[in-house]
Parts: sequence; C-alpha cells; structure tokens
Amino acid sequence: MDSLQEAAAADETLDPPDWTEVEALSHRIVDDAIAYLKDVRERPVWREMPAEVRSFFSAPLPRSPAPAADVYDDVARNLMPYPMGNIHPRFWSWYMGSSNFTGALGDFLAAIQGSNLGGGNHAAGLMDKQVVNWMKEMVGFPASASGTLVSGGSMANIIGLTVARNVKAGVDVRERGVGAMPKPLRYYASDQVHSCHRKAVEALGLGNRALRRISTDAGLRIDIAALKAAIAEDREAGFRPACVIGTAGTVNTGAVDDLQALASVAAEEDLWFHVDGCIGALIAIAPENRSLVAGIEQADSIALDPHKWLHAPFEAGCALVRDASQHRNTFAVTPEYLESTPRGLASGEWLHDYGLQTSRGFRALKIWMALKEHGVEKFGRLIDQNIAQARHLTRLIEAEPALELMSPTIINIVSFRHRLDGASEEKLKAFNTEIMLRLQEEGIAVLSDTTVQGRHCLRVAIANHRTRRDDLDLLVSEVLRLGQEIAAATPV
Ligand SMILES: *Cc1c(COP(=O)(O)O)cnc(C)c1O
Repeated sequence: MDSLQEAAAADETLDPPDWTEVEALSHRIVDDAIAYLKDVRERPVWREMPAEVRSFFSAPLPRSPAPAADVYDDVARNLMPYPMGNIHPRFWSWYMGSSNFTGALGDFLAAIQGSNLGGGNHAAGLMDKQVVNWMKEMVGFPASASGTLVSGGSMANIIGLTVARNVKAGVDVRERGVGAMPKPLRYYASDQVHSCHRKAVEALGLGNRALRRISTDAGLRIDIAALKAAIAEDREAGFRPACVIGTAGTVNTGAVDDLQALASVAAEEDLWFHVDGCIGALIAIAPENRSLVAGIEQADSIALDPHKWLHAPFEAGCALVRDASQHRNTFAVTPEYLESTPRGLASGEWLHDYGLQTSRGFRALKIWMALKEHGVEKFGRLIDQNIAQARHLTRLIEAEPALELMSPTIINIVSFRHRLDGASEEKLKAFNTEIMLRLQEEGIAVLSDTTVQGRHCLRVAIANHRTRRDDLDLLVSEVLRLGQEIAAATPV
C-alpha cells in the first residue's frame, strides 16, 4: 500500500463494515415490526414502566461501539413494550391519529434517501409540492394557493397567523417590527380555541390579550353576534381587528364553528379568515359529513393535520394559504449562500421560503404512499366511520342511566361522566378520574378528561382506524364495572 491508500483505508465512516450482517438485522426488525402491529389488539393499550426500564434511560453517553444487533435488542426490550398506545384500537385520548405501516415504510425510505426538503431541484421536492397540492384539493382551495408541510397543527396555525399579522399590520412589520404598527392588532376565536393559538400570538409579539376569546353557544360554537360586538368595541377603542380564527372541530368537544358565517364576517370587517382545521378540515373528504365544514374553502389560510385523520406517523402538519404571494412575502429570505442557479440542484424555488424552518424533513413521502395505496376515498370513509362510532357510543351512554352525556356529539369526540348519586362536583371529578386511571392501568383503554362548561368529564376522541364498535361496547361495560367497584370501596 502506498501512503495515499493507507490514509484512505484509515478514513472512518458510519457505514457498516459488512452489509450482509445489516441485512439480516434489518429483516429481523421488519419482521418484528409487522408482528408488533399485527398483535397490537392483544396487548394492553398502555402500561407503567418497571423501575429497571426507567433506569435504563439514565445510562451514560456511550463512548465506545456496540454491535447494532445489541443496540436493537435494547430497543426491543426497553422501548417497544412501553408505547404511548395511540396505535392501539382502544386509544382515544387527547387527539391524534393511529399511524399506519405504509406510512412507517415511507418514513424509513425518506430517511434512506435522506433528502433535505429545504428545497432544491430533486424528486422529493416535487413530491412535497404534490402532497401540498393534494391537501389543497381535499379542502377545496384553488390551485393557485400555496402551502407547506410542517411538524404539526401548532406550527401550521403559526404559519397562518403570521401571514395574517403581516398582511394586516398596516406597516412593513418584517422590517420594522410590531412596535411600529399604527394600531395594535386584535385576533378573535371562540373560547374553545386550541392553546397553540395563545403561543402563536405571544410568539408573534402581539401578546395573549390580542387574542380575544369569544363566548360560545349551547353547541360550543363561536357566538357570531358576540364576535361582531367585540369587533365593534375594539374598533371603537382604537384597535385594528385583524383576524378571525374559526375552529373546524374543537379539541374539547368537536364543535365546528359556522364557517360560512365567519367568512361573511371576515369579508364585511376586512379580517383575515383563518381556519384551525387540525381536527376537522379533512371532514371535507368524508362523503357523509362533509357539509359540516362547508365554508372552509373560503378561508384565507387553513391549518390541518395529516398526523391526525390521515394517520400519518408523527410528525406531519400542513399550512395552506389562499394567496401564495402573501405567504411567500411573509417568509422568503434569500441569503447569499442559498441563491438559486439557472440549472442544476439549486434551480427552482426554495421550499424554506414558506415557513420558519431552513432544513426540512421529507414528510411528504409517508403521506404520499398511504394516499396512493388506499386512495383518498377510503380515508374519507374512515372519517365517516369514526363519526358513526362516536354516535354509537353516544347512544350507549344515553341508554345507560348510570352515565351522563356532557356535551352534544357533533363529530368524533364524546364527553360523558359516570353519575354518583348525591356527590359534589369535586367528588364526581375524583370518581371519574379514578375510572379513567384504572382503565389505563388495567390496559383496557386510554381516555382523557376535560372540563366542559365548568363540569369535569371524561372524553373519548375516536381518530383511530383500528377501533371497532365492539371496542366501544367494551368501554361502556368496563366503565360501569369500574364505577361499581370504586363506588363500593369508597362510599360517598
Ligand atoms: C391537535 C390540534 C392542534 C395542534 O396540533 P399539533 O399537531 O398537536 O401541533 C391545534 N388545534 C386543534 C384544534 C387541534 O386539535
């Protein structure tokens, strides 16, 4: 060997010395992954981690190598048996999708191909745009609209609210900042609005008070008269009413604001109309229920969440903006090291000009593959199926004297509680919380809880393509069993 060859031989890489070993291990991992999903129904939806598993995660920074097979064994033993549980058919907590195998393969292939979706002239970039175009089509946005795939609904909302701020600021806010705005901006949303909007207005420098929470009607939808009154009051007081946020599917109860009425108010009052459709925008593809979100296509911007009702593996959110130039003008910056060239890899548009990230993951592939495999119509039917399941659960609750429905079921979220004769609100909360925790600890089902119109309740959000009706029958019978057990052990 001459010295040049010696030097080359000494260069390190992360690639394995022997690809055949990696091949065997990879096949094992795929086999295990398939078995894991195939048997998911047989395992507890959630379980507490034993002490040795907890302590495993305080092991120090590894300094020397370990065989990849040993590394995988650690994962198989300490990580895989203790998931959040949202891939399980009886997980109905908070609000999230249940993932899918093809999407997981998409994530794997995206990582193998390794492209950075900050931009560039390569196939992943075209696929990213194609998926955004498909999202536009799903919600009825024009082909001229723009959009971007982001980490989730919170970021998608921030994108929409930022464009709204810049368009309505009355000053070049990018250059001069919010301090230079002639009037403080006001945003409006119902008192059921998701907490990410508060973070957004705070991060945008507008302050939490700039987001006025408008009261809701008996169905927990924004009260249009109250909204108009708030706008008039703010104008009178010297504010600039800038943006109304409609929620298509509130996280608490699934209420859908009257989007057509909000579009009219926005047009009359010169407001930006943003729709938080993280839960409900995709109802637009569901044949039986799509009329619930009529008017969404009139929005100026929409946030939606493919990792909810499209069941994309985390993370995948999407922001859409009707006027592409307003979108681009909010975020585009071209530093000297990211200038385009007439040909080659750096030709064309940079995707990072539509949001806050520079490097971007290849989120489109997992969405693209699952959509291609199943077709959008099936995803629409699955949304209808979840809504029908929620209605089924609602009927079971209404038919059971020991249970009480706590808010009207509009889409796929059901809130209810177990009654306890003579108990105070406080006792009822403790009692129902205990039922919820035992459902988790016994591995039966995972629900969450919330407070609706001042009353604590259990909440079942069915955004799950694995749920069957008999899972909901089981939920009701187990809630009744636990209710009896707990009430017998701790009399009121
Ligand atoms: C889930 C949700 C969000 C936040 O979305 P993430 O994907 O969790 O960031 C915002 N608004 C509503 C109505 C939601 O349900």
